[in-house]
Amino acid sequence: MTTAREIARRVNDGASAVEELERSLAVITERNAELNVFLHVDEEGAYAAAEAVDRAVAAGQNAGALAGVPVALKDNMCTRGVPTTCSSKILEGWRPPYNATVVDRLLAAGAVPVGKTNLDEFAMGSSTENSAFGPTRNPLDPARVPGGSSGGSAAAVAAGMTPLSLGSDTGGSIRQPAALCGIVGVKPTYGSVSRYGLIAFASSLDQIGPFAVTVEDAAVLLEVISGHDPLDSTSLPEPAFSLLSSLESGVAGKRVGLVRELVAGSDEDVERAVARAADVLKEAGATLVEMSIPELTLGLSAYYLIAPAEASSNLARYDGVRYGLRIDADDVASMNEATRTAGFGPEVKRRIMLGTYALSAGYFDAYYGQALKVRTQMIAAFSRAYADVDFLLGATTPSVAFEFGTKTKDPMAMYLNDVFTIPTNLSGDAAISVPFGTGEANLPVGVQLLGPGRSEPTLFAAARVLEKAEGR
Ligand code: GLN
Repeated sequence: MTTAREIARRVNDGASAVEELERSLAVITERNAELNVFLHVDEEGAYAAAEAVDRAVAAGQNAGALAGVPVALKDNMCTRGVPTTCSSKILEGWRPPYNATVVDRLLAAGAVPVGKTNLDEFAMGSSTENSAFGPTRNPLDPARVPGGSSGGSAAAVAAGMTPLSLGSDTGGSIRQPAALCGIVGVKPTYGSVSRYGLIAFASSLDQIGPFAVTVEDAAVLLEVISGHDPLDSTSLPEPAFSLLSSLESGVAGKRVGLVRELVAGSDEDVERAVARAADVLKEAGATLVEMSIPELTLGLSAYYLIAPAEASSNLARYDGVRYGLRIDADDVASMNEATRTAGFGPEVKRRIMLGTYALSAGYFDAYYGQALKVRTQMIAAFSRAYADVDFLLGATTPSVAFEFGTKTKDPMAMYLNDVFTIPTNLSGDAAISVPFGTGEANLPVGVQLLGPGRSEPTLFAAARVLEKAEGR
């Protein structure tokens, strides 16, 4: 597939953005019925954006770093006048009155948002099987999941529908599906990409980030969407990242921590890929340091208290009054109850109950308070590691893409898919997943590079080293 960089170059040189859009729409038309990637294709908005780019170029202007590049958006990002569902019945029919900041930044850079992609309901899940609108299929093997919760956005890029897409990562929801679909996925440093207009799941963990086929394309996209936003009070007072200028700077002289806990328990094919990645980095001039960070194993337990606690509070706003669905009843409380009973799926209800319990008087200290302490310890453990090494290497997921239904009956088995990704969300740091070889059934394996906050330039350069070793 043509890269986003190449499309933007061509379009700025006078090639038609409308034709690029039509190529993208043709692939969507051909494959969406089978894969269930897009919940909504916004042809009207996409044509308007592409035509605006063509007019700008014709008028002699630079149309931006993503001129004419079709982009898919996870359907938990607000798009003005365009349905935004979070893959939940409770938001069916709702059209936001405003754009998420990332959407406005994409438009300002000449990108063409083509539509909204499927996800696990409210981004709760690791397989996209929790969507109220049916699962998304993995384009590499339609009998398997694309991962989640940003499964639709990952599949859009892996299927060649759009060269770029955006997802959100609260506990791994960009990196895990990127690994399972064989593409690049980034969880940027918390606060470096605006969350304004991202429908909240767990506000202290949620972060928007890019999916792309190449590391360079992911870099351009992150440059475009990052940087301070006064509309998000947790936005860092930092400028947009500058990543392209140091993309080829390699890893010579860098110290890399090979972390036992970030590989432990994974399948052999995944272990092999991580070991091979370590060799590649070493050959490129990095020093490998074998490390153990025992605190990382506590991440999953802390996350499944903190994330549901925040979700139970965030999702209280869906009461049948302000958004989407309403099931009428005799009085307000019954209407609230009937609406929430009909509107939320089983996983969302499970999280609301878990979170409400963890926050309830009498249990608050034992559960939520304890989880916050674990989170503090994890942040300290990462800091100690980063005092010694520049970045860490591990697996993204314990296995390649799994088959539908294999983990849906056991929530714990599903949750365990995120053991390697969750710690970074708890610490607020950065991480990137890069496809690195194949494993079982010839399916892609992702390796993960993790670094301290704002270490994206280092991580992208290291990811580029791995990508190059793969001949890309
Ligand atoms: N799979 C994790 C969960 O279900 C992470 C989800 C996410 O990052 N949005 O909570």
